[in-house]
Parts: sequence; structure tokens; C-alpha cells
Amino acid sequence: MQYTEIMVRYGELSTKGKNQRDFVSRLGGNIRKSLHNFPKLEIYPKRDRTHVTLNGEDSEAVIERLKQVFGIQNFSPSLKVDRNMKAIHEGVLKMMTDQLKPGMTFKINTRRSDHNFEMDTNELNDDLGGFVLDHFPEAVVKMHHPDLILRVEVRNNGVFLSSETIQGAGGLPVGTAGKGMMMLSGGIDSPVASYLGMKRGVDMEMIHFFSPPYTSEQALAKAKELTSHLAAYAGSLQFIQVPFTKIQEEIKEKVPEGYLMTVQRRMMLRIAVAIAKKRGGKAIFNGESLGQVASQTMESMEAINDVTNMPILRPVISLDKTEIIKKAKEIGTYDLSILPFEDCCTIFAPPAPKTKPDTERTRYYEKRIDVEGLMKEAIDGVQVSEIKAGQNFLNQNEDVFAELL
Ligand code: ATP
Ligand code: MG
Repeated sequence: MQYTEIMVRYGELSTKGKNQRDFVSRLGGNIRKSLHNFPKLEIYPKRDRTHVTLNGEDSEAVIERLKQVFGIQNFSPSLKVDRNMKAIHEGVLKMMTDQLKPGMTFKINTRRSDHNFEMDTNELNDDLGGFVLDHFPEAVVKMHHPDLILRVEVRNNGVFLSSETIQGAGGLPVGTAGKGMMMLSGGIDSPVASYLGMKRGVDMEMIHFFSPPYTSEQALAKAKELTSHLAAYAGSLQFIQVPFTKIQEEIKEKVPEGYLMTVQRRMMLRIAVAIAKKRGGKAIFNGESLGQVASQTMESMEAINDVTNMPILRPVISLDKTEIIKKAKEIGTYDLSILPFEDCCTIFAPPAPKTKPDTERTRYYEKRIDVEGLMKEAIDGVQVSEIKAGQNFLNQNEDVFAELL
């Protein structure tokens, strides 16, 4: 069914005044960004709803894209017809041919904001109900809980027919909560944490640490590909890659094995905080889940957290691995995450990291490396790129990719 416009309803609009205006205009901008390759669309953000006029663009494709935009509670594709009974009948016939299956019950629900129209709501309900029964003799009218409600809205600029309410992604428009820095590995958890953070309105920037030649080009490409997947929920994302080889080599050489991981994490966190401060980020996000591995005990978090007082937010902290996997499948990152390109932490992971590192000892061992100098060198080597939804990074290495699948 080719619709003419989509009516978008908002989620949590509990805020008022300026915040509400920010919400609405930000959502309008995000919808525009996410639908950038449908040039004929027109988007009209209003206080209570946003109208997307399709102007001939493929409504199915637009609907699929809208399902990913945070801040939308639900939306209804609709068909706009001229304000006369002949046009309304033609529209109703189209809608019902598409939606009304044999044996289904239905009702017509008319609303008029234009009271000059030739029929009132009751007359319209009667006329259109009779019209549908004439064309679909098997259909049954039912006032309470029918299978299908055909909504007819008579407005000054036309008559709008709709029958479906499609669930949106919920949450808050990306950007309304401010900027956050996501520590994105190539694993399963951090992409899910990114998604959940963005869902609460965070304008997320991805920070990825990589260690050539210990980690391959594909490991970096995988993190970028994950970012391009996640960008579907934000339009585009900044990808910040940080060279981490030298730091890992230094740590490996100078820090006792049990504390390798803790010191590595402290360095990552320091660098992430420095990047956040430079770029206006208000918090660091990561994919830690309590108790999942050695680095994710509360003692370990304490020893790592020791390097900053910037908030560290952990969207998947209380989720079980199976719950995280389920979410990863839903949002489409799982298949990428399980590709076996080694991450920098996996390669330098000690066989037996301390599950309860002591903060004082960590500080003591860390004095053996040049924290400031190493940080500066890594930050000088940072590269930032903008990644758009749907951009491909892995199929440059198609052979490798095919072999692995
Ligand atoms: P994930 O599936 O997100 O990789 P994990 O269970 O494998 O998580 P760890 O490898 O211990 O856990 O990493 C914990 C968190 O540290 C990650 O969720 C991520 O936020 C961050 N992290 C780990 N490696 C990197 C990296 N190379 N670049 C950026 N952040 C990283
Ligand atoms: Mg990992």
C-alpha cells in the first residue's frame, strides 16, 4: 500500500516549555537525518505530532527507517484524499482492499476538525460503513474491539485515512541528553550498551582502542562496521580511534601480570576522559556487566574508576549475557560481534587477572610507566571520522570475511 503521509506521535513528553520545543525540533532533525536518502519527503514537526509527507517516496522503506528513530512512540501511515465523497470512497476502497481480510470485523471512526464539511461524523460513519459492507459482503461491523479501525480525519487541507498504529523505538531523541563517549570494543556488550545509551537521548561518540600489529586491520574494520550499524539509530556517529600498542607494550613489560588488565583499563579510561573533555562529552559509557569477567567486579571497577570523577555509565550492568545477546540480535549487531577478529584486550589479557585488584597496589605498579607521556602520544595519534548508517568497512576484505562465515 502506497501511503501519502505518516503521522508520528511522541513518547515521553513529560517536559514542558523550552525542553519540549528542544525535544520536538531535535526529533524533527533526527527524522530528517535518518531519512536523508528520500529527497522528496517533507517533515513538519508540531508540538503534539510530526507529519511526514511522502510525495511519492516508498512508504514501506520510510516506515522501516522510522522504526529506528528514538523518541517516537508510534506512528500511523495515512492516505490523504480530496475533500469530496467520491475521493473518500476511492481511498476507503484502497485501504480496505489492502487491510481487510475475509471474516475480519471493522469499524469506521471519523473525526472532523473542519466543521464545514458536507457530512457530520455520524453521517460519515454510516455512509462509509455501508460503503465498505457493499464492497466486502463478508465483513462484519463491530463497535467494541473490532479487528480493524479505519480512522477518517476531515481537516481543512484534506481527508486523512489510516488504520495501522506501528510501534516506534521509544526513548528520547538522540542529542536531547547531551554528549557521551562510548568505549566501543568489537564485542557483544558494548554495541548493546551504545544502543541503550542512545535510546536515552545521548549523542554518542565511539572511542575504539586498537593495537597494530597485534590486532588486525579487520578488527578495526569490525569496530567501524558495528558503528555504521549503530548509526542507523542516530543518522551518523563520530568514530574515534586511539592507537594503544605502545601503552600495552609498556604495561606488559613493567607491570606484574595480575595487574596488567587493571592498569590497561585505567589508561583507556584516562584517555577516554581526556577526549571527552576536549569534545564536550559529559560522561563515559562502557559495556560492563557486573560479575561477567574479572575486570567487571565491583573491586575492579573501583580500582579502574580511581583515575577520574567523570561519571561512568554502564547501561548493561545488570543484564545477563543471554539478555545482552538477545538484545544484540534484535538491534542487528550480534552477527558482526561474533566475527573472531581479536580485540586488543584479548591479546594482552593475562591468563589469570586479579578479580579483586587493590587500588593502592594498582597505583604503586602504575608508577613504573610514564602515564602522562604515553597518554599524550596516544592522544596525538587519534583519528576521528564520521560514519554513516549503512557504510561498509568489512567487505573490502571480502575473501577473509567469506572464509570466516
Ligand atoms: P564487549 O563485549 O563490549 O567487548 P566484554 O564482555 O568483552 O565486553 P571486556 O573486553 O572486559 O568485556 O571490556 C569491557 C568494556 O571495556 C567493553 O564493554 C568496552 O566498553 C570497553 N573496551 C574493551 N576493549 C575496548 C577497546 N578495544 N576499545 C574501546 N573500549 C573497549
Ligand atoms: Mg571485549
